[in-house]
Amino acid sequence: MITNHSVFVELLVKHGADPWIKADKKSIKKERKEAKKESYKRCSGCNKSGEKRCTGCFLEWYCSAECQKADWDTHKGECKARREEYVVVEFIGQGYGYFNWESGRVDSGKLSETVSSKAASSFVVKVQVSLGDMFGGDDVGDMMVYNKDRTVKGMISVSNAFGSKLDNIIRTKGFQGAKGYFYAMKKKNKTFVNQSILPPETW
Ligand SMILES: [Zn+2]
Ligand SMILES: [Zn+2]
Repeated sequence: MITNHSVFVELLVKHGADPWIKADKKSIKKERKEAKKESYKRCSGCNKSGEKRCTGCFLEWYCSAECQKADWDTHKGECKARREEYVVVEFIGQGYGYFNWESGRVDSGKLSETVSSKAASSFVVKVQVSLGDMFGGDDVGDMMVYNKDRTVKGMISVSNAFGSKLDNIIRTKGFQGAKGYFYAMKKKNKTFVNQSILPPETW
């Protein structure tokens, strides 16, 4: 199935076909707008827009240290719970290349888990479920995962508890049931992914 898939991707590249991403840009923008209206980057203290993140869970936003301090008693318990949502992921290698929608080229299938030390505390990864079954096959295979600059990329198996949970989250709440964005972090050379799905990005 994997071989068929990469052949299919090669065909797409050759003919310049782009089955979904271009048409998506508008709806992604719309979804992001909606998300922003709700809680994304909203200060949990005063509800104005906030650009600083809680460094405990990386999920709560604040406009200032004052607001964060004032909110800590309320957030403390949730912060701990959210921290526990980060699950260590084991990357399995990628044996095949895949199409990079952004560059319009086929990326090498090389596994990579490097992230700059500055970004290591928290970064966003995109997880894409297997499209095998979307194109008429019966493949519900492994998920592709990478960060924006693709210094972290690999596959996550769906045959373990976390993998299948993530697959399910994306298929039910992800963008068009195909992809989802999640906070990730590196600790002691391991990659952790938070199970709370984020508003869609454009990459
Ligand atoms: Zn505030
Ligand atoms: Zn927190």
